Amino acid sequence: MNKEKQCICQDTQRHFLFRAFDSLGLEDAQRELLLSSFRETRFSIPVVLHRDGRDTLCTFQGYRVQHNHARGPFKGGLRYHPEVNQGEVRALAQLMTWKTALIDIPFGGAKGGVTINPAELNKSELEVLTKRFIQKMEPLLGVHQDIPAPDMGTNAQVMAWILEEYSKTHGYTPGIVTGKPVELGGSQGREEATGFGVACVTRKVAGGMSLHLEDTRIVIQGFGNVGFHTAMTLARMGARVIALSDVRGAVHCEAGIDIEAARAHVAQTGWLEGLPGTEPLSNEAMLELPCHILIPAALEAVINCDNAGAIQAKVIIEAANMPVTHQADTELQERGIIVVPDILANAGGVLASYYEWVQNLQEFPWEHESVLRRLEQHLLRVYGEVSHHAEENETDLRTAAYELAIGRVNKAIQLRGF
Ligand code: GLU
Repeated sequence: MNKEKQCICQDTQRHFLFRAFDSLGLEDAQRELLLSSFRETRFSIPVVLHRDGRDTLCTFQGYRVQHNHARGPFKGGLRYHPEVNQGEVRALAQLMTWKTALIDIPFGGAKGGVTINPAELNKSELEVLTKRFIQKMEPLLGVHQDIPAPDMGTNAQVMAWILEEYSKTHGYTPGIVTGKPVELGGSQGREEATGFGVACVTRKVAGGMSLHLEDTRIVIQGFGNVGFHTAMTLARMGARVIALSDVRGAVHCEAGIDIEAARAHVAQTGWLEGLPGTEPLSNEAMLELPCHILIPAALEAVINCDNAGAIQAKVIIEAANMPVTHQADTELQERGIIVVPDILANAGGVLASYYEWVQNLQEFPWEHESVLRRLEQHLLRVYGEVSHHAEENETDLRTAAYELAIGRVNKAIQLRGF
């Protein structure tokens, strides 16, 4: 992330928070505590890489920001991406505190990451890097202290290496990390949980607009874990996904895209480009397509001052973290476009992580169906609470979600004398 984008994310976060702080009437001292990270740690991670016929020592930068643990252990993913930096990790750690509070699970918020392009390392190099990172982070971690999970650029395999490294000194401890492979104590349904949750919220929103899913024109930006599972679940529900994209560009078909065929095409060619039956489109033009629901499921700040005026969707569902900047958010509100905020829309991932942690503590795995059924019920209950709070207070969904979340964290702080 370049400096400019990093500032946009931090400004956006502060702006949304201050709007809720004001309506909650919080004093300056309370605001300061809620904004401060509990602990921010930076690690250097030296790894020897074999490049151009010789061994080269490379030192990567890793981060873990633990924002708040008033309501339970720190919880949040580890991101491997070339633009990871302390400011971004700090903003994302805060977002986890509000997300876990909003869905009312007994966790606080954290985030971590390594500034690296994981595609440039082979599997054994990634294993060495991950294990070295965990060796250094290990004193911060614990089943009741801090529990990492996957995020952008990491997956179940990386979580398995984390489990292995931690277990070397602590004995087999599956509850130390979530998003693990099912074979190592991971939960059924965790892999698709974020996208599945986004799809459940989308169906609910479409219903609220008196739209049948098959008539609802949906655009999804991003075809990684979240974008793919959102598209796949919506397709199974009978929805019409008219455009999809990856980093190379977008594909468009008004009649609806066959998501299974898109998956097979990507597995074969690596990209969505050239998907039979679709027209190519730029990523920018795709965001501006006329549609009912737009689901940004890739990067931060993709809807900003430059394109907010051109968005034609009626609803935006934030599957990615922080995809809409605060200036764009204001403009969208003025234009009557509803935004379902990230801390609600994409909370299915950490909710399934919570179920995984509970299963690990109880040493009792749940069935796939029961994980997804619980997840849908829980998320829709929270959606109902947020909509109700927004209506009662004549505010937007994001401010309502932040008010509920901040209120809970603040209450826990007061009760504990934290
Ligand atoms: N990385 C995901 C998020 O941003 C999941 C975090 C977790 O499961 O702890 O919500």
